[in-house]
Amino acid sequence: MSDRSQSDASRYLQTLAVQPELDIAPGFDSFSTPTYRGSTVVFRNLDELRAYGDPTKTYWRYGLHATPTSEALCQQLAQIEGGRHTLLLPSGMGAISLVYFAFLKSGDDVLVPDNVYGPNRDHGEWLAREFGVSVRYYHPMAGASIASMIRPNTKLIWLEAPGSVTMEVPDTEAIVAAAKARGVLTAIDNTWSAGVYFQPFAKGIDISVQALTKYQSGGSDVLMGAVITADESLHNRLKRTRMVMGWGVSADDCFLVLRGMASMPVRLAAHDRSAREIAEWLTKRPEVTRVLHPALPDCPGHAEWRRDFTGASGLFSIILHSRFGREQVDAFVEALKLYAIGWSWGGAHSLAVPYHVDTMRPAGTWPPAGWENAGELVRLYIGLEDSRDLIADLKQAMEQHLR
Ligand SMILES: *Cc1c(COP(=O)(O)O)cnc(C)c1O
Repeated sequence: MSDRSQSDASRYLQTLAVQPELDIAPGFDSFSTPTYRGSTVVFRNLDELRAYGDPTKTYWRYGLHATPTSEALCQQLAQIEGGRHTLLLPSGMGAISLVYFAFLKSGDDVLVPDNVYGPNRDHGEWLAREFGVSVRYYHPMAGASIASMIRPNTKLIWLEAPGSVTMEVPDTEAIVAAAKARGVLTAIDNTWSAGVYFQPFAKGIDISVQALTKYQSGGSDVLMGAVITADESLHNRLKRTRMVMGWGVSADDCFLVLRGMASMPVRLAAHDRSAREIAEWLTKRPEVTRVLHPALPDCPGHAEWRRDFTGASGLFSIILHSRFGREQVDAFVEALKLYAIGWSWGGAHSLAVPYHVDTMRPAGTWPPAGWENAGELVRLYIGLEDSRDLIADLKQAMEQHLR
């Protein structure tokens, strides 16, 4: 059999297999963002190829760095959060790591809230152990008093609002003012609000990190992170770091996150409504001593939440009475039928995880002074199931195991 193609006698079959002569009609339009997969970016000429770093000549360089698909997501994320530039990373944790590597070197100091997302703490500890970075922890409610902790080599202050698991909402205004007075950069992990309910750049924060794995995706099926800035020189430094590290994301994953974006604000509103209803119900239960939901007065930083946030999301925690031991609390969580046991959140499914907070706060900032009968903590994520079923489920598991 000849390997000459029958339809085009001028080219051999294998060439047509690689470079078919296509005639695709123009004019197809749809709402979805095209998924541009690509490692090689094709230049029109050598002048374009050689114009490295000159954005007036070539915007696109290599599929690792950006594609029109990733760019669509970047622009949308920046618009929602009130920033100007976005970089995408393979996970929220990757976004946190990018901030550390872009702005810290050995000998530098970083201040981290004691209630920070656990893997962020692990990352800092690793930098301290292996790379000679100094990492110190501040009380989540430190506010203006953080000024006394800033040293000449302090380069970065992390914020998280609210903090992971224990949900304190920091006084971001006071912390940012103290940082600015000393020329220290501030970075916030703004995952909880999805950038919708808290606008970091309007508050003077320099860098925002999002785990897009959570609400932006909304599907519990894709991992991605973002670092957003409003300042071009900060962005360029982050971008360069991301490039030398070789970090990028797949266009297919961008497509999945882009699909989630259209419904994100209405999903958030639904999570908020349900979570507040369930949190209110929990305040009336005798098994519960504190409901750590930023929109409720029990939560440290409730006043800051009211001042700075336009809504709440679906994640909060409860503190059970100290008369319930760990085994009882574990049995309660395992008896829940509608709340799955698992990490991550932001999808449609509700989740519950018990935490031993006393082992998570080596800086000794837990429990807050004067908290009576504070026992075990359970973090709840309220998904999109009907809140009446979610309440009934909590009730049955409490009646079974918390007596
Ligand atoms: C989940 C989460 C992250 C990390 O996101 P991954 O994509 O899972 O790495 C970071 N910060 C917060 C507050 C999170 O909840």
